[in-house]
Amino acid sequence: MPGIFDTKIEFLKGVGPQRAALINKELNIFTYGELIQHYPFRYEDRSTFFKINQLKPDLENAQVIAKVRRVEIIGMGGKRRLVAEVADETGVMEMTWFKGIQWVQKKLPVGAVYVFFGKPAQFGRKWSIAHPEMEPLSQSREQHNSFQPVYSTTEKLRARFLDSRGISKIQEQLLQVCYPHIRETLSASILTRFNLIGKAEALRQIHFPTDPKLLNAAQKRLKFEEFFFLQLRLLKMKVNRTAKSPGQVLPNTDLLNDFYANHIPFELTNAQKRVIREAYRDMKSGKQMNRLIQGDVGSGKTMVAFICMLIAISSGAQACLMAPTEILAIQHYEGLKEYADLMGLKIDLLTGSSKTKARREIHETLLSGELKILIGTHALLEDVVQFKNLGLAIVDEQHRFGVAQRAKLWAKNKEYIPHVLVMTATPIPRTLAMTLYGDLDVSVIDELPAGRKPIQTVHRYDKDRLLVFSFIKKEVLKGRQVYIVYPLIDESETLDLKNLMDGFESISRAFPEFPISIVYGSMKPEAKDFEMQRFVKGETKIMVATTVIEVGVNVPNASVMIIENAERFGLSQLHQLRGRVGRGAEQSYCVLMSKYELSKDSRVRLDTMVRTNDGFEIADVDLKLRGPGDMMGTQQSGITDLLIADLSKDAPLLTLARDAAELTLSEDPGLEKPENQPILIQIKNQKKHAVNWSRIS
Ligand code: ADP
Ligand code: MG
Repeated sequence: MPGIFDTKIEFLKGVGPQRAALINKELNIFTYGELIQHYPFRYEDRSTFFKINQLKPDLENAQVIAKVRRVEIIGMGGKRRLVAEVADETGVMEMTWFKGIQWVQKKLPVGAVYVFFGKPAQFGRKWSIAHPEMEPLSQSREQHNSFQPVYSTTEKLRARFLDSRGISKIQEQLLQVCYPHIRETLSASILTRFNLIGKAEALRQIHFPTDPKLLNAAQKRLKFEEFFFLQLRLLKMKVNRTAKSPGQVLPNTDLLNDFYANHIPFELTNAQKRVIREAYRDMKSGKQMNRLIQGDVGSGKTMVAFICMLIAISSGAQACLMAPTEILAIQHYEGLKEYADLMGLKIDLLTGSSKTKARREIHETLLSGELKILIGTHALLEDVVQFKNLGLAIVDEQHRFGVAQRAKLWAKNKEYIPHVLVMTATPIPRTLAMTLYGDLDVSVIDELPAGRKPIQTVHRYDKDRLLVFSFIKKEVLKGRQVYIVYPLIDESETLDLKNLMDGFESISRAFPEFPISIVYGSMKPEAKDFEMQRFVKGETKIMVATTVIEVGVNVPNASVMIIENAERFGLSQLHQLRGRVGRGAEQSYCVLMSKYELSKDSRVRLDTMVRTNDGFEIADVDLKLRGPGDMMGTQQSGITDLLIADLSKDAPLLTLARDAAELTLSEDPGLEKPENQPILIQIKNQKKHAVNWSRIS
């Protein structure tokens, strides 16, 4: 049943079909319900008025009361404009319009007194404001003049008098019509417990704030609500999933105990122990584990993965680990084989370049159950790869895999969906993780193994290159290895490739005495692997590469990372790259090379890298710079539905809303209690809305 909020905006007094069509097109707003959620994005203090002779060049905006003295159209064609000369008792200035000339002209009778508002500019000695907001003094009311909402709008809308002020007038109409119909969407107990004002009052205050305190309360209430319903949806997804997916019970820890007592090469960090316990609890619970392990580069995710494999194998199941690149898969294989051999467990590697014979053997031993651990790339997903009993599937560096690929892994065990561990080194702020992976459980390895020396990071300009070269030389002579990384961004690949080659040449010339490797994306896999292996073995001292080495590669003797054109990389990428060093006992260094002229954001990025090694702190800065919409995977998560709440600024509120959602569902999983009816109705409304949207766009 369509309610008043489904009404088309053309039926609102003061809008009409033409302006409605324009609003549809420019703001993607069609109904009363959508319009009322077109919230102001900031508020302006309109308590101050300027006299014309008080105007100053640096004013962002100014408000003047002036009388219209003369109105005329000047110029032709594109330069045609309407100029109104206005005056107060201190001087004369001009208001100008380049669009909507006819419209404005009719509204500006000579002799009328108006409140004008806009950014003043000075031409010669005369002040002028282009496309000011305006309102007859007689109509301008006190309350509007103190604290005014600013709405986002567009040039085209402004030309039809739908500037911020115009939109505010429409909102006033709308609120009058709708106010009695605004339903509460939260339960009374949530309102009380979290100290929130009612929905109707919040909507009124957000559009027409009467004082800053109430405005604050309104913002809090509306943000909370957005977060609450988002979290509720995610939690319900999670509940549905666990209810539907029983998991294989894997309680045995014999192999783990043996490994721990006799073979483990180092003491686990407390964070590693905690995460292993969390995974173990899931694996023996009878419910399918779907867990994300977040751990900064170098935090020791591989060992955690291996120990979880041991748990699965102890109870008679098999385990696999999928990596995004062949280089990484090989590296994992070699690392884990060392441990597996100690334990007498059969382990194998499957990639795109595995030979037919090797494949056949893998297929057979997997099916017989003899092969306990399989490491590989996407090749693992092929249908011919069948396990006897896959108990645990681990995915490394998950952001490179899509949801569909994960689903393919799930299908590898017919009886139970295997337990899934997803490991990522892309630290995401907790607030974002909560939302992005709301339907996954999240474990965090928030501690690095002891004895690591923090990487020292510096920023150098291109002109200091010779100093950087002599530093490289000194380190190589000490026996260290060096990465030099160039950006490679798809659109301009040929140019970037040339940069890389030029760089390679100049480095070869600068260091004729050192063997140098080069690796880039479009090289043949065998050649790439060959060069990589030479560097891993220490045969080459310098690795010139693109970001193909970004992920996972582990060469403990490499202790210097030079990043060329560092200003062109994103923060998380810089952090990933830096994470390639600092893995051994030696002091490691990262040198960020850049040109001299930098944008503000680039400077923040480089400064952040120099200031801290903490991946989570870096992720926070990244979130603030880029906004959540840009971050990996946010499109599907519902984050883009947030209208007023902001993940990067409203984290504490998100946590509260999450608590509220958890509490609500734990007390009333089906939302059947009368007191939760408002919540249930709102969820249904949102679903209806989602359908509408997909039809429109
Ligand atoms: P990442 O989390 O980046 O995948 P790795 O698993 O590659 O990190 O571990 C990085 C290095 O730290 C490896 O050489 C690994 O052997 C070592 N390592 C892992 N855990 C510990 C620990 N608890 N104590 C000492 N060294 C560790
Ligand atoms: Mg790793």
